[in-house]
Amino acid sequence: GKKSTVTITVVGASGDLAKKKIFPALFALYYEDCLPEHFTIFGYARSKMTDSELRNMVSKTLTCRIDKRENCSEKMEEFLKRCFYHSGQYDSQENFVELDKKLREHEAGRVSNRLFYLSIPPNIFVDAVRCASVSASAASGWTRIIVEKPFGRDSESSAALTKSLKQYLTEDQIFRIDHYLGKELVENLSVLRFSNLIFEPLWSRQYIRNVQLIFSEDFGTEGRGGYFDHYGIIRDIMQNHLLQIVALFAMETPVSLDAEDIRNEKVKVLRSMRTLRIDDVVIGQYKSHTKGNVSYPGYTDDKTVPKDSLTPTFAAAALFINNARWDGVPFLMKAGKALHNRRAEIRVQFRHVPGNLYNRSIGTDLDMATNEFVIRVQPDEAIYLKINNKVPGLGMRLDRSHLNLLYKARYLKEIPDAYERLLLDAIEGERRLFIRSDELDAAWSIFTPVLKEIEEKKIVPEYYPYGSRGPVGAHYLAARYDVKWGDLGLDE
Ligand code: NAP
Repeated sequence: GKKSTVTITVVGASGDLAKKKIFPALFALYYEDCLPEHFTIFGYARSKMTDSELRNMVSKTLTCRIDKRENCSEKMEEFLKRCFYHSGQYDSQENFVELDKKLREHEAGRVSNRLFYLSIPPNIFVDAVRCASVSASAASGWTRIIVEKPFGRDSESSAALTKSLKQYLTEDQIFRIDHYLGKELVENLSVLRFSNLIFEPLWSRQYIRNVQLIFSEDFGTEGRGGYFDHYGIIRDIMQNHLLQIVALFAMETPVSLDAEDIRNEKVKVLRSMRTLRIDDVVIGQYKSHTKGNVSYPGYTDDKTVPKDSLTPTFAAAALFINNARWDGVPFLMKAGKALHNRRAEIRVQFRHVPGNLYNRSIGTDLDMATNEFVIRVQPDEAIYLKINNKVPGLGMRLDRSHLNLLYKARYLKEIPDAYERLLLDAIEGERRLFIRSDELDAAWSIFTPVLKEIEEKKIVPEYYPYGSRGPVGAHYLAARYDVKWGDLGLDE
């Protein structure tokens, strides 16, 4: 309302994520008129900057949507005038008291609501939370804190982090971001399932043979491997982003669309998952590769990575959900850096048509005849269903065709960045897309034993060339469950 105000403090405002994602997302929300009437944005970090230096820094990262060019620079100017900066240490109560004083001036006696976005390395999360909560909490309205991964690196450290956060915050003040949950096609999963008649009846072991979650990047750590080396691809991508997608994909129908109802179902399905076993994991690491006269570095050529690092930059895993709906259906995950393309997708492979009359028309390869449903999360968002179709003509020849929903052809609007959705939700107190503590615990229990085993046994990753399709071990893992990775098919 008119009498209340929201201040958004970006803690670690000088950093990469703040520049790349947070400020641009805040501007996009401003442009779309989604921010409350009285809002102020504060940057907080140790770097010395004036307000105008922050504005200058931020202005370089702002962009306008293609369809919203008019008066964009005017809007930018207005937006930048609402941005301020305060320099301080992350563990200094005193510095946060100074921040508090500035925030109060901007709040000017209105009901104050405060959102802190912690865009800082994990080792200083708790310090910053303590200082923000003790010295800069809102006097009258709500105080919320957004935290970014990593949420620990195994069950114990994650539980310890949660425990520390809860010394200063209640559960409903903590907004754990998994930015995959803010992606348009991930949000759409529930819409597809629960508002179309044709999907949900097929959504079980009865019709689905396997589900694949595939993430690939076509670049390596490129000099920023310090953080990554401590975590590896399983923690960086699988335990959070891909597992969150599995939970949404596989959960039972929630009672309603309320955050707690949805998160209850996600926890249930996560708790039904079998703890991942070492036999069901393949790990890889990229090595240097020369193509033409271009040379691509190996992972350990990165100066920020120890020369003898065994950290996986690739992993494939087979997961199982021990419940009535999914018993025996492999959920195959594959994630890697420095691969041949950049992509995130969900693939659902259906069973064979029993006694299919047309098998002979297609050929001997039975795989050709099964339907596959693909949700491409990025880039070039799309949803398509592969069907067998008669090739027009007098003969009876079948081929595989796509029923295709290509977003850029169907929806002319630019798709908002995931951070826009998530920031807006945090401001509005919508918790649906944030990770609750018990969800996080359940997610870690699935992966922690295998992560420990890989590290304790110093399991050597399978090396794959930069820019390749990853280690061949991923194929053997899939083959063990009678599965072929869908992204390597001929008809892609
Ligand atoms: P960053 O650039 O490394 O750090 C952000 C800011 O924190 C820096 O500008 C620096 O500000 C301060 N800082 C850095 N190292 C510090 C240290 N050792 N002690 C105290 N302060 C330090 O991090 P980021 O890439 O923006 O990421 C921020 C958070 O988001 C991290 O938790 C990261 O794991 C997570 N995250 C990042 C991305 C991404 O795309 N970058 C993606 C997902 C999650 P001052 O020196 O000015 O204080």
